[in-house]
Amino acid sequence: MQTSLRPEREALLACVQALQMVQENIQEKPLSSFDTIQRICQTLYTLRIFQSWDEVSNLIDCIERGNPQECLHQLNRLMIHLATCAHVPQLDCDRLLIIEDDPLIGQALVDELNEPNRQVLWATSVETALTLLREHTISLILLDLGLPDNDGRNLMVQMRQEALMKDVPIFVLSARTDVNVKVECFALGADMYFEKPVDPSLLRVTIASKLQRVKDFKTRSYHDDLTGLPNRIWLNIAFEQAIKLSARTHHPLSLALIDIDHFKQVNDLHGHSIGDRVLRHTTKVISRTLRVSDMIARWGGEEFVMIFPQTSPLQAKRALDKAKEELRNDFFRLPSELPLSLTFSAGVIRLTEGMTLEMAIVEADRHLYKAKTEGRDRIILGGG
Ligand code: GH3
Ligand code: MG
Ligand code: MG
Ligand code: MG
Repeated sequence: MQTSLRPEREALLACVQALQMVQENIQEKPLSSFDTIQRICQTLYTLRIFQSWDEVSNLIDCIERGNPQECLHQLNRLMIHLATCAHVPQLDCDRLLIIEDDPLIGQALVDELNEPNRQVLWATSVETALTLLREHTISLILLDLGLPDNDGRNLMVQMRQEALMKDVPIFVLSARTDVNVKVECFALGADMYFEKPVDPSLLRVTIASKLQRVKDFKTRSYHDDLTGLPNRIWLNIAFEQAIKLSARTHHPLSLALIDIDHFKQVNDLHGHSIGDRVLRHTTKVISRTLRVSDMIARWGGEEFVMIFPQTSPLQAKRALDKAKEELRNDFFRLPSELPLSLTFSAGVIRLTEGMTLEMAIVEADRHLYKAKTEGRDRIILGGG
């Protein structure tokens, strides 16, 4: 059993893409664009997936009530906000999964723990729980041990072995008071153990506190300090989600590995701290040219990985050519005020189901290498 839900990330990306297309065509068809924007905003409103919900809903309100000019201005602000949300693999909405076969306890937990900006799913067996875990990003699990098809402890073992599930906090809720069971649960990776009946207030605050800690930790551990871009840890998650989504929707998906040309010279000639600033400048310029649904992460050093949903390698190459052009024209100003023009090289490939991030990088790197040996400042396409 589960509460009904839409896959929010997909819904959000669809809205973002639609808004982006409207933005691109707004000069030609201002009136119909205005109507479209209003309709999409109504849909966004129903998603209710943002932590900073007040700000988003204010923007949407302004768009819905405002005149076309005001609407456009607010839309730009909204798009910046959505860009942040769309780039975070786990959206700001918390999603709890209750695994409990007792209908009364399960329903009571759903009622107790439901709140705005949170989704509560309920599975009555291990099998259903595994399906939900594979389909959704779950923030925290409440796990009963005695379940009809398996022992909750076996589920814990399985979860801790799967990359996407191994870090999800687990609170065991069980009628078993035996200390050996509790010790075993902690050994298997439980974060908490509550004896039933559980005090609902205690459960609520413990969950809230755990979720906040996880969020703080993720915000810190998913980002690269220097550029502020997502890092490899984040990329691993985003990559898996993007591949799954593309397999389900049959949309093309592309990946690019890009590397700044002759970057060592920048360090050698101007010093490491200018090098750092150049890195920040470069990523800012490139990010600015991308679509909201595109993703960019720092792979390491002066290398970056981009993922382009719903984009063929050829289309991704066009996007990168645009970014390269923008970077060429937006000089970095050295302290001496002299302009420093930068270029990059990239390898672009099509991502297909079953590919791992490592495989994708190896393949993209081959094309990047070719771009370098053929003279740099260019983008080389893989097959597809
Ligand atoms: P190519 O065109 O072949 O890519 O040449 P390159 O000079 O860009 O490549 P190379 O791999 O020789 O040098 C990369 C340099 O990037 C060396 C390293 O010191 C510098 N680098 C890596 N990470 C950072 C960083 O965080 N800050 C700064 N300032 N430099 C960095
Ligand atoms: Mg039970
Ligand atoms: Mg390099
Ligand atoms: Mg380089």
